[in-house]
Amino acid sequence: MLLNFTGKNVFITGGSRGIGRACAILFSKLKANVAITYKSNKVEAEKTLSMLDSDLMNVMYALDINDAASVENVFSNAVDQFKGIDVVVNNAGVFLEHKIDSISYEKWQQIWQETISTNLTGVSNLCYVAGQHMIKNGGGKIVNIGSRGAFRGEPDHPAYGASKAGLHAMSQSLAIALAPYNISIGVVAPGFVETDMTSAYLKSEKGNAIKKQSPLNRVATADEVANIVSVFAADGFEFMTGGIVDLNGASYLRT
Ligand code: NAP
Repeated sequence: MLLNFTGKNVFITGGSRGIGRACAILFSKLKANVAITYKSNKVEAEKTLSMLDSDLMNVMYALDINDAASVENVFSNAVDQFKGIDVVVNNAGVFLEHKIDSISYEKWQQIWQETISTNLTGVSNLCYVAGQHMIKNGGGKIVNIGSRGAFRGEPDHPAYGASKAGLHAMSQSLAIALAPYNISIGVVAPGFVETDMTSAYLKSEKGNAIKKQSPLNRVATADEVANIVSVFAADGFEFMTGGIVDLNGASYLRT
């Protein structure tokens, strides 16, 4: 097996559903110990844990990524419990609609604030605490989930597109800053993925048009995103640091 995480400890935010759950299951299959976080969906987080290899160490934590103190506390609890974290997957995120032609100014500001705080500032805080730990530990891997929306535009979710563009830029800056410490940072930038985040869109009258954006006439699965995450996190792929991998079924090609 090319990818093997035996003895590695992986910390995944937003592990209660979707892409985070798929990452937890894949890392567990690849023999990693797995820590997941959830915001409020404890039952689904427990379900994720029940899908992991019970011979390994699997723990879940409640975490609102918007709360900077909790980010520090939860990550430091995981470090203590697992005796170190080797891989962090910044997956938790929100996708909130706010069409400029039909939303109130007050709601517009509220959604911008929540989106940037969750998808960018919260991730930067976890990068900070994880980076400090990994510097002391002699190295590590951070994988951030970005989005095609950063490149292609998000007309109904402009804060989301901006948050992911910021996330891509931050990840690249930190890849340079942390490389001397043997810490690599990768970004996966999916187009539409079949999860709770998008199920209403995919089931709506827009669903077929969304699938047709790709010549494969479908959207990605969460497992396909997890596959790329595991590559970024694996030993032997350190030179990919600073990279942003598109996973969009040729629905948006950039050069
Ligand atoms: P999802 O099914 O909606 O799941 C979101 C996860 O994030 C849940 O585990 C949720 O916890 C957690 N979460 C939400 N807000 C949080 C907060 N404030 N603090 C901590 N955790 C929070 O999402 P997904 O589709 O798997 O997306 C995962 C990532 O991929 C996101 O960053 C998203 O932007 C990105 N992405 C998704 C797509 C797509 O089409 N689905 C495309 C491109 C990029 P609870 O279950 O407790 O609520």
